[in-house]
Amino acid sequence: MLKAHRFLIGRRITQLGLLFLFFGGNYFGWEILTGNYSSAKVFGLIDLTDPFAVLQILFSGFVVATNALIGAGIILIAYSLIFGRAFCSWVCPMNIVVDTAGWLNKKLRFQQKPINNKFVVKLRYYILGLVLLLSTILGFAVFEMISPIGMLHRNIVFGFGTGIISVGVVFLFDMVARPLSFCKNICPLGAFYSLISRPRILKIYHIKENCTNCNKCFAVCPEKQVLKTVGVKSSPITSGECTNCGRCIEVCKDNALKFSIFKK
Ligand code: SF4
Ligand code: SF4
Repeated sequence: MLKAHRFLIGRRITQLGLLFLFFGGNYFGWEILTGNYSSAKVFGLIDLTDPFAVLQILFSGFVVATNALIGAGIILIAYSLIFGRAFCSWVCPMNIVVDTAGWLNKKLRFQQKPINNKFVVKLRYYILGLVLLLSTILGFAVFEMISPIGMLHRNIVFGFGTGIISVGVVFLFDMVARPLSFCKNICPLGAFYSLISRPRILKIYHIKENCTNCNKCFAVCPEKQVLKTVGVKSSPITSGECTNCGRCIEVCKDNALKFSIFKK
């Protein structure tokens, strides 16, 4: 049981642990992790900044402080060269909301017709472009103002307010509109991390010789399109849209998928 959900358990511990540290920073004055998901400080010393937030600020015409730029550089290097889009599956608190909605969707047997419309498939990238354009026109970081990630963080760390409504809207959307999903089709931050994550060294590796084409990995993967080489050839999953969640490894009983580093 534990082995079958080892990555899921690890992800929830990480996501809830980070929220707990943010909460402790606000209520008890801990300095382990303060701030929020866009701009945080570790041990009161190291700045960590969301590079997409910095990009929006730059597009809106404001100057970004040097420590924020360094913090964005650290995050950019960590995700693009090492962990890939792991922010979405291991850090972002909305992942818990979206996964719960997806689980309910299956339990309640809502319809899940595949969607191949090219515009819908690429929608999150268009939204990313729109966010940058609107940030330039309006003169502020647009996604930071409306992001359900920030709203969820504020509601948990500072107390519940009206922002929780947007989180509820995402939850309902993900529950009834599958296979459409906020993370897969709408979130510009997820799109940003998808774009920068291709060079990462930590990837899922598929071993064709072990694969029995049971398709269990397709059933659980939140980004099924990244599994196009499964059953076809032994190779790493190179797409930046893979969130390195490890769910495919957990369900594969034939040891045809594993995490790998530096595998070409
Ligand atoms: S796609 Fe957006 S909301 Fe979803 S997990 Fe990633 S950053 Fe969070
Ligand atoms: S390929 Fe595996 S690790 Fe990547 S998103 Fe899909 S289930 Fe998660």
